[in-house]
Amino acid sequence: MRYAVLGTGIVGQTVATKLVSLGHEVVIGTRDPEATLARTEPNGHGAPPFAQWQADNTQVRLATFADAAAFGEIVVNATAGAVSLQALQAAGTENLNGKVLVDISNPLDFSQGMPPSLNPVNTDSLGEQLQRAFPEIRIVKALNTMNCQIMVEPSRVAGEHDVFISGDDTDAKKAVTELLVSFGWPGTNVIDLGDITTARGTEMLLPIWLRLWGALGHFDFNFHIQGARA
Ligand code: NAP
Repeated sequence: MRYAVLGTGIVGQTVATKLVSLGHEVVIGTRDPEATLARTEPNGHGAPPFAQWQADNTQVRLATFADAAAFGEIVVNATAGAVSLQALQAAGTENLNGKVLVDISNPLDFSQGMPPSLNPVNTDSLGEQLQRAFPEIRIVKALNTMNCQIMVEPSRVAGEHDVFISGDDTDAKKAVTELLVSFGWPGTNVIDLGDITTARGTEMLLPIWLRLWGALGHFDFNFHIQGARA
């Protein structure tokens, strides 16, 4: 399968590496490939400079958001939540419409410092904002409630734990569930919350996730809903 991963940060890098290891073709999208390759410092969220990661992952091609989106049969949104709308606009509806898009982004607002707040929140979500702005894209919110290492290697956390999906398109959620199973998630641990409005719930898990990270001092943990399969 051909994948577009929009986002060159730690999430985009981690998901792209996993997809390649599963035999997929991957193009990773960025605003300006030359500028991204020229960076020499880790980004603000700890991702190694892209060129360093690219040297170890030569099968992945770096391209503009638009060229990556045109390549992918399935698209992954791993851009900063505050700019995901702009990133999808740059990717272009002509390259995205009709495709399944796995939305990993969170609407974290760092403008008031740490910890970040959420924007939007309560009566709206980033998943919904993206779906409203791009009604022809088959958006499935998934994987946004855990660290990226766990997204692609759930066995890092012992015992049962869960991944949530939200979206309006049943077939798109089926396709994303198959992808999650290929990442190592037991199908029984994929919890379909319902339509895209349910992304409010998973995005609003971020404040407690961030506090758990602070309290535990590591990010090898995840949520488990006891009784979900009763
Ligand atoms: P990030 O630093 O949040 O975002 C990096 C991406 O955002 C880059 O591709 C960058 O483009 C793009 N970007 C920045 N400003 C932009 C603008 N003005 N217009 C368009 N694109 C812009 O990356 P991350 O830490 O890998 O996180 C990605 C997403 O996953 C976030 O929404 C985050 O909340 C969510 N998430 C992260 C984790 C985790 O483990 N870190 C877990 C769950 C969910 P360039 O490539 O051009 O620089």
